[in-house]
Formats: sequence, structure tokens, C-alpha cells
Amino acid sequence: MGAQVIRGEWPDARGRFGEFGGRFVPETLMHPVEELEQAYEAARRDPNFQAELDRLLRDFAGRPTPLFHARRLTERLGGAQLYLKREDLLHTGAHKINNCLGQGLLARRMGKSRLIAETGAGQHGVATAAVAAFLGLECTVYMGEEDMARQAPNVYRMRLLGTEVVPVASGSKTLKDAINEAMRDWVTNVHNTHYLLGSVLGPHPYPKMVREFHRVIGREAREQVLAAAGRLPDCLIACVGGGSNSIGLFYDFLADPKVKMVGVEAGGRSLNLGDHAARFSGGKPGVLHGTYTYVLQTPDGLISNTHSISAGLDYAAVGPEHSYLREIGRVEYDFATDEEALEGARVLARTEGIIPALEPAHAVAEVLKRAPKMPRDAIVVINLSGRGDKDLGIFQSAGIL
Ligand SMILES: *Cc1c(COP(=O)(O)O)cnc(C)c1O
Repeated sequence: MGAQVIRGEWPDARGRFGEFGGRFVPETLMHPVEELEQAYEAARRDPNFQAELDRLLRDFAGRPTPLFHARRLTERLGGAQLYLKREDLLHTGAHKINNCLGQGLLARRMGKSRLIAETGAGQHGVATAAVAAFLGLECTVYMGEEDMARQAPNVYRMRLLGTEVVPVASGSKTLKDAINEAMRDWVTNVHNTHYLLGSVLGPHPYPKMVREFHRVIGREAREQVLAAAGRLPDCLIACVGGGSNSIGLFYDFLADPKVKMVGVEAGGRSLNLGDHAARFSGGKPGVLHGTYTYVLQTPDGLISNTHSISAGLDYAAVGPEHSYLREIGRVEYDFATDEEALEGARVLARTEGIIPALEPAHAVAEVLKRAPKMPRDAIVVINLSGRGDKDLGIFQSAGIL
């Protein structure tokens, strides 16, 4: 399985991962995305751009992040050796900063004076706001009214960082509606504005560009696991919202057929449409926000509402590269429910002294199911994409203390 996979094969020049991906945008957005693609391709070949990004990832964001051997969790589960990639230790609390620094530098290089972004839980908004402040750029973040109420501390953080947070009252008042508003703003203000999209979603070149900015996770993990264990891991596990932290970890292992990979989606309350965000367990291919990929939709093709206890996994579409990796059988996708994620967070907190965000708690939940069935010399790397500070209110009201 996966032996045919060679790094760098995708996307093609039109942004296609097999049949997935592409660029489904109105005429008014065609020029902005083409301009962005050209600027990005020039930047990524420029050693000065890469050197400055590397320096900021180190000095501003806190890279490299450690690979931590979770010995007590390993003992407790009695199976595979478990290693945590500690993206939760990064500045602003999650992996999001990797992509925000990359796109922020690109925006400055393109001569843009303003960043806009969408945010669900507020993690991407906070990371964008921090980068905007640090680069001296104006910043506006669109956020659904519903999400603003659920994630009030992150709204305050963004405002403290000098960002304007615009409430979005249309539709379901969540992430999908915030993306619509951000795209509208971009069309109007593209002369001075860069749209800093937060995951491996949207029209080409975003899925590729965001992946490239997160590949540092897998590059580091590969070196670290070789140094710690003397060989490649047997399995990688990461949660999948849009799919950026997972592809960031997976990508540099795709050409190693013996490394198994599991992406974990949000199983929510149930697998009834509207109760979850497990796109591969209820969705079908369609177009959302400029890309062709698995989307949760009603029988008439309307975008379905979604639910997850973790705002970061609560979106109706998955990044197109994941649709492709699933189709060719290279990555397996599973889901964890709200309750299983809460249990994952509780177990990790009690055994390792680490409170994860609810998103990677879904990956931990998967490990609770799988690790006991694996041999003791197997090696599993789990991407701990963010820390749990933002979720304390949810932990508290769920009564898991
Ligand atoms: C945003 C977020 C996610 C989900 O986004 P991906 O693009 O799938 O990585 C996962 N974990 C954390 C901590 C997040 O903030």
C-alpha cells in the first residue's frame, strides 16, 4: 500500500490532487489567486525568504518543537511506544503560527499592507493577529457571532494585538460564513490586502502553499524519531479539520510505504447528518470555497450544518489532498466522538501532565483504541497540534474534572 507514492507528485499545475482540488472561483477572484501563485512560487525558490522564515520559526514561534516519549501513557496502554510532537508548545498555542509566519512574510513581500483572515475557534485569528502586529500590518479577522460568544478570550486576544474582529451574522454564524465574508473583503480590497487562509483548503495555490509551510512538522519529527528510536515510526496519527497539521506531519513520510498514517475526524454527537464533521463517513465530493473535495451535504447538495465539540474540526469540507490520499489508500481516516475526545484529553492530562486542545484530543482518543493492540516495540507519533487553554470552559462544563 502506498508503494507507488512519490513525494512532490502533486498537486499538478492546475492545483489538482488526482481529481480533487483545483480553482473554483468567480472571475473576480481569478486574478488575485494567480498573482498569489506567482508570488508564492518566486518566494519559495528564494533562499533569503526561506532563511528569514526559518529564523522567525525559531526565534518568534519557538521551533523546533520537541518530540516527547510519553512513557506513562505508553505503560498505561500496554502497547506501542507513544511519542508526542509538541506543536502545543508553539507561540499562540498551536501549529497555526507556522503557516501564518509564512503567509505574513509573503504578504509583506507582495507589498500588501493589510491581512484578513477567517477564524472558527479563534486560534488561526490569534496567530494571524500576532504575525500582523509583529510585521506592522493592518489586520481584520472575520468570525461568526456564534463562535465569538463561544471563544470570547480569543476575541479579546486578537483585539489586544490590534486586530479588528468583525462579527459575521449570516448563515449559521460560524466558520463557513466567516470564510464567505473574508472572500468578499478580498475581492474588494485585493490591491492592498492578502487573504491569510488558515488551512489546506480553498482554491489553488492555498492547499499546496499551506502544506508547504507546515511540512516543517514532519521534517523535524523524522529526524527526531530517527535520533530517539533509530528507525522510522510504524504509525502517525493526527486530527483532521481542514487538514493542515496532519498533512504537515504526514507529507515527508508519504514515500515510506511502511509508515502507516491515520487521520482522525470529528465524530461529534452521532453520525446523523448535522451531528458531526466526519466528511469521509457521510460526505461526498463537491465544491466548497473554491476547491473540489469531500463535503458534508444534504441530499439536494446544500452544505450541511456540522457539529463538533472542538471548533477547529467543525467544518463541512476537508482539504482536497486528504480526499486524494484516502482515494489512493495511502492514509486511513477514522473519527472520534465528542465524548471520546474529552476522555482522551483527561487521560493525557492525568498521565503526562499535558492538557491538549480538544482537536488533538481526538487523535489521543484514537491512540487509546489502537495502541493496546500494537506490539510493544511499535512506534507511534501523535501530532499534539495545540494546547488546551482555550478549551478550559468546555472541559469545565462537560464536567470531566
Ligand atoms: C485549527 C486547529 C486544528 C484543525 O485544523 P487543521 O488544519 O486540520 O490542522 C487542529 N488543532 C488545533 C489545535 C487547531 O487550532
